[in-house]
Order: sequence, then structure tokens, then C-alpha cells
Amino acid sequence: ATRAGQTGQSSNIDIFLRVKPVPRPTNRIVVDPLDGNVEFNIPRDSSAGLINNSRERYLFNFNGILTPEARQDEVFERVARPVVVGSMQGFNGTIFAYGQTGSGKTFTITGGAERYVDRGIIPRTIACVYGEVAKQAGYTFQVYISYLEIYNEVGYDLLDPTREVQAMEDLPQVYIQEDEDQNIHFKNLSVHRAATEEEALNLLFLGDTNRTVSETPMNQASTRSHCIFTIMLEARQAGSDVVRRSKLHLVDLAGSERVAKSGVDGTTLKEAKYINLSLHYLEQVIVALQERSMGLARVHVPYRNSLMTLVLRDSLGGNCRTVMVATVSGEAEHMEESISTCRFAQRVA
Ligand code: ADP
Ligand code: MG
Repeated sequence: ATRAGQTGQSSNIDIFLRVKPVPRPTNRIVVDPLDGNVEFNIPRDSSAGLINNSRERYLFNFNGILTPEARQDEVFERVARPVVVGSMQGFNGTIFAYGQTGSGKTFTITGGAERYVDRGIIPRTIACVYGEVAKQAGYTFQVYISYLEIYNEVGYDLLDPTREVQAMEDLPQVYIQEDEDQNIHFKNLSVHRAATEEEALNLLFLGDTNRTVSETPMNQASTRSHCIFTIMLEARQAGSDVVRRSKLHLVDLAGSERVAKSGVDGTTLKEAKYINLSLHYLEQVIVALQERSMGLARVHVPYRNSLMTLVLRDSLGGNCRTVMVATVSGEAEHMEESISTCRFAQRVA
């Protein structure tokens, strides 16, 4: 994508900013959806000096901005449809949501549970996939689904039918085996064929139920784990034995907030350490892929540092379509985190 204000510079990841609607939006965030700019104005600490009342300004640029008014169908059309259509044509893709807890990642990726219009990228992607399957007359498609949760760098199968009766510590762990050709195989991660849209939605529902089962109000584990919903497609052209395979990962990342040492929100330092590290490794991989695409062919891409980057290995960079939605909430108290989310987005852009 060519980004406004950086003519000629292209990258293989598209980055959107989504601003969550809030009751009292601060006027210190100025969003310009037309040119993709967002500006933060922060008053200087008045105790720091008497000299002036000038402000700190932070300016960021995105491929697109989804304002608080943006509806879920618009988000799907702009963010996801090109990636989904690409996956039907054989291109792997990844869509992720990055941002602090409460900023709208799950709302963006999965959607709100109450109203039909609030369904997010995953159910809309499922609808789009089966719609396209019906249209592409010359092909037979098979659709497979898996749903992986990564918590403290350990993988768990959200579609494991025995999951709900077990405590997290007792769950089988998903791990990776690599064969001689460096292909990755997942152990303990179930893959389900979904013949219809309804079957696929039921799998999503099962996974989301399992995801929240281990939670208490004090301990909202899902904000501290990464969840990866993967749609695998097999397309076979009529009269041919050739199977074309592609993968689409829809990723709800763990909350990116910096955790205070006191851990008042229930997040332990151990959890925070794992989250920070895995987001850092993800950033490293994306940055390395960008450098490689700019012609630095010998750049080493450090996939092996984390489970997340191994899972996404064949679905980032190169021929893949990658989109990140950075989510922020427009309240004054969240400005620092919102700026830090934008900084991350800018580093991987
Ligand atoms: P996260 O997954 O980043 O922690 P959530 O997606 O759970 O955040 O959002 C926090 C709350 O805000 C939820 O109640 C969600 O329904 C609501 N919310 C988030 N984004 C929007 C939006 N764009 N429009 C309306 N409600 C939203
Ligand atoms: Mg969430």
C-alpha cells in the first residue's frame, strides 16, 4: 500500500486505526479520515515549568481511519474483504487487532454478541467465504477451521471438545513439530471441516464459549491471551487433481497496555512479560519482512522466537495480505496508551 505523505514508499502491511466511540471523547485527538492522519495534543505538565503552555504534539499516518461512527459492515468492507477475496484466490492472509484492553479488539475481530449488526470480522468473513464458494462455479472448495489460544506462550485448542470441563493447567498443550522440509505441524490442535456457514459459525461460537469459561470477573484471562481463528481453504478446479491451499488468520491479540507493577488489574507480571515479549517478537518479524521486501534480501526473519510468529510464519510478508487494525479509545485517560498503540503501528508500517 502506498501511504499518504510517503509517496513511492510501499509496504506489504496495511494499517488502519479504529477509534472506539466513547461518551466523552477528548478534543485532544484530532482525526482526519480523509488523509489518514491522527494527531494527539497533550498539554505539558503545568508543574514542570511556568514558561509556556505549549503542547506536545504527536502525529501519525495510517492507510485508513475508522472513526467512531464506522459501522461493522464498513470495517469489514475496507479492512477484511480484500484479504478474504485474496485467500479465495490462493493468497494467505492475516488480519490482526492490536490495542489496549477495552479499546475494541474483540469487537472488531469477533463483534458484539447482542445485536446482529454488531457482528465482527470473523462471522462476516465466514459469510463472505461461503458466498464466494457458491459463486466460483469451476471450483470445489473445502473449508477447515481451527481456533488457537496462546496464553503465557503456551498454545491451547479452543475447539477441544473436552475443554470446558478442565482447568487451564490441565488442558493439553498445543505444540509444534517441524519436519525435514521445515514444514510446521501442530500437535493437539484440532482441525474441523465446516461444510456450511452454519457449521463454521458454530465452531466460532464453541471457541468463544471455551475462551470465556475460565474467566471470572476478577480474572479476565482472554484479555491476556492471543486468539487466532484460522480458516484453511482447499480449492480444486473441476477436472484437475491440483489442490490450491490457502490460509487466513484472524487474530485478536492480547491487550498491549503496560502493566503497573502493583498489578491492580489482576494481570501478573509474568503474564505481562509474556505479552510484551510476544508483541515485541511479532513486531521484529514484521519489521524484518518489510526490510526484506525493500530489497534487503538477506535479512533474517526471527520466526522462532515465539509461538505466534511460528503460527503466522507462512501468512505474513511475501505474497500474503496482511492488515492490522490498531484500536484506540478516545478518552483522555487513555491518551498515553493510544499514543503507544499508534507508535507500534508506525513501527510495523
Ligand atoms: P478489547 O477486546 O480490546 O479488550 P472490546 O472489544 O471487548 O475491547 O471492547 C470493550 C467494550 O467496548 C465492549 O463492551 C465492546 O462492545 C465496546 N466496543 C468496542 N468497540 C466498539 C465500537 N466500535 N462500537 C461500539 N461498542 C464498542
Ligand atoms: Mg478482547
